[in-house]
Amino acid sequence: MVEYRCSNCQRIITIDDIGSKAKCPHCSNRVLIKLRPKIVKKVQAR
Ligand SMILES: [Zn+2]
Repeated sequence: MVEYRCSNCQRIITIDDIGSKAKCPHCSNRVLIKLRPKIVKKVQAR
């Protein structure tokens, strides 16, 4: 799932929330920051 974060209200928005419109449904801000997929890397601490 692709997630975005609104640069104005900092809310996490999924592509399902906005559909094809790149616009924040909460504050109508159009500057959305695309988040990386949630990949948890295991880093061994030495
Ligand atoms: Zn917003």
